[in-house]
Amino acid sequence: MTPDPGPRPERPGSPGSRPPAVGRLGEVVALARDTRGFMPDDEGLALLRAGLRAGSVARPGGGRAVFVEIGAWCGKSSLYLGAAAEATGAVLFSVDHHRGSEENQPGWPYHEPDLVDPDDGRIDTLPHWRRAIARAGLEASVVGIVGDSPTVASCWSTPLALCFVDGGHGSEPAWADYRGWAPHVAVDGLLAIHDVFPDPADGGRPPYELWAHALASGQWVEEAACGSLRVLRRVAPPR
Ligand code: SAH
Ligand code: MG
Repeated sequence: MTPDPGPRPERPGSPGSRPPAVGRLGEVVALARDTRGFMPDDEGLALLRAGLRAGSVARPGGGRAVFVEIGAWCGKSSLYLGAAAEATGAVLFSVDHHRGSEENQPGWPYHEPDLVDPDDGRIDTLPHWRRAIARAGLEASVVGIVGDSPTVASCWSTPLALCFVDGGHGSEPAWADYRGWAPHVAVDGLLAIHDVFPDPADGGRPPYELWAHALASGQWVEEAACGSLRVLRRVAPPR
């Protein structure tokens, strides 16, 4: 089946963006809006709100809340989540191999030729991501992990206050991300899934299937929904 990452990339200055919020959050949100990527502003703000909630939950021992993002691309969602991490004292680990998903490769609908490194002909979004994080002044709150998501997940052990899944949207990568990362979300922690389309006419199935599976497991309840973003809260430990 054809993976479909949902809405077309938002270009800087795209029409319909909302007026910026005030203060430091507003400053980062304005930069997020101006960062290329696949996250409409209302969904980005919903993600930010989820991050603010997740980062504010008291933790035993009082350490920093840990967020993980799977699928960073050029840093758009990293900025919305990074704003929440900074505001709450949390840390966002942003995982991406920065080579693009299947649907970003030449010949696929979401290919952006200017992201190809002329040296080796491969997509490289890492310089764009880095610039976005630096431009937003988020280097103290956002840490990039450059590599394959299931590989990173297999070595991960820190409980997560929030996990945002927006990596490869084909069946295999989407399920690998869910199986690899959802078990790390702590009770009361949030699992946000992007590109959930209940109507198949709107986009590919795997993110919707993960969301439906999670709800059916009884381990999660829906906390928020905005556009194709779904936010679930863990109410029971993984079995
Ligand atoms: N959240 C981004 C969009 C992410 S696009 C935004 O706000 O714009 C999906 C990303 O997932 C791509 O950058 C791709 O490189 C990454 N990805 C796909 N499969 C991956 C894998 N197995 N490991 C790490 N990253 C992966
Ligand atoms: Mg997406």
